[in-house]
Amino acid sequence: MATTVKTVSRPGGFRRQTYLVAIVEGLWVTFRHLMKNWIGNLFGRRARTDIATLSYPEEKKAYPQRNRGLHRLMKREDGEVRCVACMMCPTVCPAHCITIVPEEAPNGAIEKRPRIFEIDELRCVVCGLCVEACPCDAIRMDTRIHAAPTLRRADAILDKAALLSLGDKSVATQGGVGPFWREKTKA
Ligand code: SF4
Ligand code: SF4
Repeated sequence: MATTVKTVSRPGGFRRQTYLVAIVEGLWVTFRHLMKNWIGNLFGRRARTDIATLSYPEEKKAYPQRNRGLHRLMKREDGEVRCVACMMCPTVCPAHCITIVPEEAPNGAIEKRPRIFEIDELRCVVCGLCVEACPCDAIRMDTRIHAAPTLRRADAILDKAALLSLGDKSVATQGGVGPFWREKTKA
């Protein structure tokens, strides 16, 4: 079957082709918001809810419950890291920013533990998949701390000690029990 070409005329007339009217409309919206906020400030109505800006850093927005901040490594009851170096998190990480070198645990209670555990927070895309993948509640992102600006990439890499210093004891069952095992964990 022969292929035919259907010619379609360009949409719109002078108004759409020059963009002039659209530009003026956009500027009018900006000007309207500018005047509304300026007049609101003039009469002390700064706290109106339709003004979306904050005077950061003096004013800070409260983070929601499920905000994803810097990672932290959780500890067991005896203070040891909960991570058993199962390699689930580096496997699932889409940014390949988790480096784990396992070693044998000396106490024999668990098979492995991480000798090196590093996360490059600059490469991290904050997807939270590592937290979801962990079977031990060993890694969380609920610190509500932003990754700090750095001049050197090395400064953005958190090592095991830094990750553990942000962590706390977890009351979850090691390895998890049932599909809702996270509900037993501390907030
Ligand atoms: S939050 Fe996502 S990108 Fe960041 S370390 Fe975890 S899995 Fe990787
Ligand atoms: S998924 Fe959890 S236990 Fe496994 S390596 Fe990552 S932090 Fe450790």
